Amino acid sequence: QDFVLLDSHNSETAFLDNLKKRFTEDLIYTYVGILLISVNPCKELDIYTKKQMDLYMGVNFFELPPHIYALADNVYHTMLSEASNHFILISGESGAGKTEASKKILQYYAVSCPSSTLLDTVRDCMLMFNPGPAPIGSGPNDNSSRFGKYMDIQFDCQGDAVGGHILSYLLEKSRVVHQNHGERNFHIFYQLVEGGEEDQLRHLGLEKDTQHYSYLVQGECSNVSSINDKNDWKTVKNALSVIDFDASDTEHLFGIIASVLHLGNVHFDGDTKGYAILNSNAALRWLLGIHVQVLHEALTFRKIEAKSEEVLSPFTVDLAICARDALAKAIYGRAFTWLVNRINESLENKVREQQKNFEQFCINYCNEKLQQLFIQFTLKSEQEEYEAEGIGVKKHRGIISVLNEECMRPGDATDLTFLEKLEEKMGNHPHFLTHKLADKKTRKSLERGDFRLLHYAGEVTYCIVGFIDKNNDLLYKNIKDVMRLSKNPIIQECFPATEGDSRRRPETVATQFKNSLLRLTEILTAKEAWYVRCLKSNDNKQSGKFDEVLVRHQVKYLGLMEHLRVRRAGFAYRRRYEVFLQRYKALCPATWPHWRGVPAEGVEKLVQHLGYKPDEYKMDRTKIFIRYARTLFATEDAFEICKHELGKQQRIQKRHLIFFSFYYKHLDRRAWAVKIIKQFIKGYITRREAKTTDNSEYLAFVRQSYLNRLKDNLPKTVLDKTTWLTPPPVMTETSEILRQLNTRMMVRKYVQGITPQKKAQLQQKVVTSAIFKGNKDSYPSSIAVSFVDTRINEQDINMRILQTIRHERIKYSVPVVKYDRNGFKSRPRQLVLTQAAVYLVEEAKIKQRVDYVSLKGASVSNLGDSVMILHVALNDPKQKGDLVLQCDHLFEALTKLAMIANKQNNIKVVQGSIKFEIQAGKEGGVDFSTAQEPMIFKGKNGHLMVVSDYFSISA
Ligand code: ADP
Ligand code: MG
Repeated sequence: QDFVLLDSHNSETAFLDNLKKRFTEDLIYTYVGILLISVNPCKELDIYTKKQMDLYMGVNFFELPPHIYALADNVYHTMLSEASNHFILISGESGAGKTEASKKILQYYAVSCPSSTLLDTVRDCMLMFNPGPAPIGSGPNDNSSRFGKYMDIQFDCQGDAVGGHILSYLLEKSRVVHQNHGERNFHIFYQLVEGGEEDQLRHLGLEKDTQHYSYLVQGECSNVSSINDKNDWKTVKNALSVIDFDASDTEHLFGIIASVLHLGNVHFDGDTKGYAILNSNAALRWLLGIHVQVLHEALTFRKIEAKSEEVLSPFTVDLAICARDALAKAIYGRAFTWLVNRINESLENKVREQQKNFEQFCINYCNEKLQQLFIQFTLKSEQEEYEAEGIGVKKHRGIISVLNEECMRPGDATDLTFLEKLEEKMGNHPHFLTHKLADKKTRKSLERGDFRLLHYAGEVTYCIVGFIDKNNDLLYKNIKDVMRLSKNPIIQECFPATEGDSRRRPETVATQFKNSLLRLTEILTAKEAWYVRCLKSNDNKQSGKFDEVLVRHQVKYLGLMEHLRVRRAGFAYRRRYEVFLQRYKALCPATWPHWRGVPAEGVEKLVQHLGYKPDEYKMDRTKIFIRYARTLFATEDAFEICKHELGKQQRIQKRHLIFFSFYYKHLDRRAWAVKIIKQFIKGYITRREAKTTDNSEYLAFVRQSYLNRLKDNLPKTVLDKTTWLTPPPVMTETSEILRQLNTRMMVRKYVQGITPQKKAQLQQKVVTSAIFKGNKDSYPSSIAVSFVDTRINEQDINMRILQTIRHERIKYSVPVVKYDRNGFKSRPRQLVLTQAAVYLVEEAKIKQRVDYVSLKGASVSNLGDSVMILHVALNDPKQKGDLVLQCDHLFEALTKLAMIANKQNNIKVVQGSIKFEIQAGKEGGVDFSTAQEPMIFKGKNGHLMVVSDYFSISA
């Protein structure tokens, strides 16, 4: 399914065999890397369903069989992920499936993109230019539209289609007035005549009979069975409504189409001098909103300005017919351009209308351009060769410039003088030939008025007749003036007044065409290229028929073999040194098996060994650039041979591998199943034994299944210490390692996730835990209570106090109850901790200050009470003694004290009773106990009795 994997990649026959083999299996798509080849199956295939679309959405390119959806999907996702611009170039002969391919791509986007209204519109508009269900720009044969199309869809960063436009670059205008045998005019004419409603036709003065119109009968095939004009007419009208055509727009557009048919039926008789006079056409009084008499004059006289006088020069019948046809083409062509512009407006640039022989030349020129572009993107250096030899493409030297010069020079230029000029200027070119230039043998196949070009797709012979006239595309000035009288608004827009004023010579058709192609090329070179190469399987639209000669020819001129070789080499001529070296190092003894130096130097050694000439490559900072495809191909060939030698050993191994896979595939499935089950049972029985061949697979299964289950049953939080799957014996050690890893990982995740506030909180709680955990009964109930910065705001501390102690920086304050050292009378106080000391405050008075140096420590009981004693170092009897305090936020207050005063190790949890100093040398005591009711009172022993219940909560 990818030619890159084809073994004999140099063989065209192998290439074709593969295509054919796939084609007969209805596998019409094949890759060459990311290029997609599509072979027209000429029958409906069941591979374009919604289900298929879903299958390909967001899937890796090479995961599924090749499909146009895979390409479409990959382009879309690359665009989104790389935020870059892309185009898909769909090429191939007429009837190869280009239009189908573009439809499929649009349909895919319409389904897979988030918003698709605009895509539907783009698709409808595109279909309007197409045969089958479409008209106006399309026509001649029932399956080809004679102009290239470029559709642009703009997506926003979310992948919504938000805009678009169509650039058309060829309309074969001459088809309007003349068709060769077997050809049709543009579909729209037939559709209007066959499908138009009675009223409408009457209004337009048309008869419901295509045979009635001379512009429709020349090809003698107005009824092509495969075309259902009536139905298509509905599609056209629908498409027009999609792009916001209202009733009057539609009427004016159809008015123009009808007028072209009427013009075709305008005949001239010759008067006695041979000058043209209008054949009385009584039925017609108005055409395009212009009185027929006025039009008649414009078609039979040419206005010449001579010495500031206007002279009317009468036309011969032939000239009048030319003028009429020129007008018909101009009207149709301009209306077409106008319509495309209208569509572009509706979709959110610029369109060109142009003009077998001359037209075919333009078409081929266009294809050359696109081929060149393809080469430029893939086979860069061949393009240089190609350009050097280029024909019709080189500036100032090509056929178009000779043609333009001939059209513009003063004097009588004719097709024959043009041919002479060509012979003069192009005579030496190997791809150019005329009767005069050809040798005797070849001459037989060339008429005198012919020239022959060797295009990339093969030789084409052109007849020179009409080149000059068609390129001029001139419409007499007075006809343009008359058109400006038209009441049809579309015609008015198509023939703007400014055009008449311009003294500039209008651009020739070839120049217009060339310019529009130039614009296209500019658009394309700014984007990344994707390719769909459509191949025609046979010339007769016969399903299942694979015409090898025909396909081989297309494979050849589309350059698919070359493309394959470049893809296989993996790059188009430029590559980083490391990569180049890695691929080709085996080709040079100095670089094989390893190059230890700088990669660039290794590459230099390598290419010198390979004999690259200085003009064949260039080296920059990081990459080597190879100029010619042949250089790369030669290297690649050498690599293949080398690989062949080096790889003998490997290939033997590979052959074994192939043999074994073959063997397993063909083993009886039942025997295979029996063997596997037996092995499993044996493995189960011996699962506790050391690893043997019998149980190794079973153990592998056990390991895998444990790991799989474990993955889905991991503990959800750091604190969850119980969730862990019991491992099977073989996994005990692994399980323990994994468990530790998992804990560490969760801890890390947890730590990374916490805020600075939370962190500070936890640090405090750790201190609390170190002091009280397991020591004091009420500790557990404190864990869930958050510590706060302070329990008393500064505004609730007296101003005088603040003024006195502020310089020490207040860190924490909390309300406490103080028990007098003598008598244990209780009094509410504020306990304030600063950086330097602890203060006991009553309103505006500092009752006691203990600096941290004098603070020996603190004691609490092991029970549920909230009493604490702060021990003070006492040196003289006048000093106040220890502090007996009750605090509702005991844990918090002591933790703060411990941290601020750095007293972690001086806070003691004591059982029974605590002694304290009333003053230096005089002791008191606090006794602790539990009972139903908590209380604090002075005991008979003179101690403070603190009774707590079991449920005191304090933080
Ligand atoms: P092109 O635009 O290259 O001239 P079309 O896309 O119009 O060719 O294809 C010509 C005809 O071939 C279509 O009308 C259709 O019948 C048939 N065809 C092309 N591609 C496919 C396809 N992928 N599946 C089925 N039929 C196809
Ligand atoms: Mg087509």
